[in-house]
Amino acid sequence: MMISPLHRYLSEMLENIRPMTAGTVNPVTETATKPDLSKLAITLTTVNGFQYSSGDADHRFAIQSIAKVFAYGLALDDLGPTEVGKKIDVEPSGDPFNEISLQSGSGRPANPMINAGAIATVGLIKGRGGVDRLSRISRIMDLAAEGSPGELEINRTVYHAENINGHRNRALAWLLRSFEIIDSDPEPVVQDYFLECSTDVTTENLSMMAATLANKGVNPVTGREVFSEETTRQVLAVMMTCGMYDAAGNWMIDIGLPAKSGVDGGIMVVVPGQLGIGVYSAPLDSHGNSVRGAAAIRRVTRDLGLHYADAS
Ligand code: GLN
Repeated sequence: MMISPLHRYLSEMLENIRPMTAGTVNPVTETATKPDLSKLAITLTTVNGFQYSSGDADHRFAIQSIAKVFAYGLALDDLGPTEVGKKIDVEPSGDPFNEISLQSGSGRPANPMINAGAIATVGLIKGRGGVDRLSRISRIMDLAAEGSPGELEINRTVYHAENINGHRNRALAWLLRSFEIIDSDPEPVVQDYFLECSTDVTTENLSMMAATLANKGVNPVTGREVFSEETTRQVLAVMMTCGMYDAAGNWMIDIGLPAKSGVDGGIMVVVPGQLGIGVYSAPLDSHGNSVRGAAAIRRVTRDLGLHYADAS
């Protein structure tokens, strides 16, 4: 088999960062799935649908907070930015992902990337045409990932762990109900939030999902519109300013691209008009972002000149 220069570059780059040992695994993930710390993967997908992977690109892990991006896009396409904006702001909170970051008085979460905003987002999405809310959220992620190998499925072990350990998220849901940001029983809302977070993906899936966002909301392989252009623009803007939580400012200086991380070790990065990138490695830094995943992204974006301020 011919090894392309890009494949060779990606595998050398991964071997360079492989010895990094910093970071700790999310405790809930550690107990639930005992992740293999040697697993390391990267996939790049171009906006014309070509995929380039290195490492364990078929290894499955839970999408976790990266699901928030797709639920937010669905809520925006359902209700429009004005209605969604009444319940969830679009300002960086500078807070950790699980902070009780609600505006005083209104209870409006600062943005949809932190847990409070993501739970509020789920509350805004309703069943439609006989399809329930969770199936609609799963379907939007499937449509974005289509064209990459494998089907997205909910990992019941992860869901069980999220459910029994999710006291803070459950409390956030009830707090959101008290402010009428959530207008229904908070328990099914927080359940659907746990379930969306428990969807298993590979870096090949994440990268295709990112490429859909890079391609103005149109899946590069199927040609199907997953999100409108306006929705995609807003989703990317919010990822850019809030996707990496309290590390968002440093990420912007360092990487300069919209991104979203998840506590199981995935990171999804979008290079608008060009590429989607998915990376995976379980150990996390103090902000909940994959250490080796971020290192891989740093190397690739530097070497390929992808930082937004480097565009010529
Ligand atoms: N399910 C996790 C939680 O709600 C998701 C957090 C994350 O990935 N940052 O705490």
